Amino acid sequence: MDGQPEALVDLDAIQANVAALRGHVGGAAVMAVVKADGYGHGMIPSARAAVAGGASWLGVLHLADAVALRRAGLDVPVLSLHGSPDAAHAEAIAHDVDLTAGSPELISQIAAAAVEAGKPARVHLEADTGMSRGGAIRAAWPALLDAALAAEAAGHVRVVGVWSHFACADMPGHPTIGTQIDDFRSAVRLAEQAGARLEVRHMANGPATLTLPDSHFDLVRPGGAAFGLCTLPGGAPDWLRPAMTIRARLIQVKRVPAGTAVSYAHRYTALGETTLGVLALGYNEGIPRHATNQAGLFFTRGRRVPVAGTVNLNHVVLDLGGEQAEAGDEVVIFGPGDHGEPTAQEWAEALGTISYEIVTRFTGKVPRTYSGVTAVRDTAVHALDGRTDGKVAAAH
Ligand SMILES: *Cc1c(COP(=O)(O)O)cnc(C)c1O
Repeated sequence: MDGQPEALVDLDAIQANVAALRGHVGGAAVMAVVKADGYGHGMIPSARAAVAGGASWLGVLHLADAVALRRAGLDVPVLSLHGSPDAAHAEAIAHDVDLTAGSPELISQIAAAAVEAGKPARVHLEADTGMSRGGAIRAAWPALLDAALAAEAAGHVRVVGVWSHFACADMPGHPTIGTQIDDFRSAVRLAEQAGARLEVRHMANGPATLTLPDSHFDLVRPGGAAFGLCTLPGGAPDWLRPAMTIRARLIQVKRVPAGTAVSYAHRYTALGETTLGVLALGYNEGIPRHATNQAGLFFTRGRRVPVAGTVNLNHVVLDLGGEQAEAGDEVVIFGPGDHGEPTAQEWAEALGTISYEIVTRFTGKVPRTYSGVTAVRDTAVHALDGRTDGKVAAAH
């Protein structure tokens, strides 16, 4: 073991989280949002685990991701949540990917792509009810409906959904929550009055899925919650299990005398004689540089230990104190918290960010190992893809 850090992804946790979310929402369907490479957990294995847990839809942003899900054999409805001009619309339509449109211009581009693909595009219209990111604001909604329904009449699109997105669903009691739900209802009503025959109306992200039953409509779109994470104050409820563990092994351990100053700029000085442990991961691998001198975010031999000084590009030095330690000892950066290790939520709170930012920092920098029932199948798929990023740990 060379100290190389690794990300362990617990696919059973993802599957169980989605099953629990499904139970939580009762009648609504669950779209697992697996954007950002499955919030850093690996898009395809995460999507498989989510589908095994009962997700009947998948959500991504980029069309290339949607097509990658299809190529991996995932055949549930997939929605691209980016309503953006994209040369790949025709390919996505050919792969039965549902598209988002928030403007008449995009409807015409999608209609043209549908002609190229030789079949109608399934389109979800995005209503901007207060997020002010994608979608059509109330004043622009009638024109979007006209364009979409004209394209439907011409046989180029099928308007199958209307959706919106909360700005403040993770701020319980925020006054915009109710107004966004009201505005969404009126956008849906206008669409139906104009003749849209909708399959699904949806607006709930993970926080809304957890706390706002009025927002569930036909379909909920949790992302982080599927991975055991949430941006609500305090993080996810304890019936959701964090799916990612980041760990590494100490590459060197040494005893140093009192007064030893440590790492760049000597931001840390050992007060007494102590033991320093070196880890081969730093901000390049995903450790925020703001973890410099933080106490209690690294876990080894059953206890929390402080960072000694500045987090480097590829290294962190830990102050292990007087306890027994040796090179090769495992250090857990975060995990589900079962053994006293910090969680990504705890990291986020310590560093003034959200857990999503903590877990996604390690994407592409730290090799992932998958465990869980869907892992064996995933590895086979990766091998077929020529993508062997995932190895299987303890498939059971
Ligand atoms: C990211 C995203 C979600 C999921 O958000 P979470 O907070 O991770 O649950 C849902 N819908 C849209 C449009 C998104 O962009």
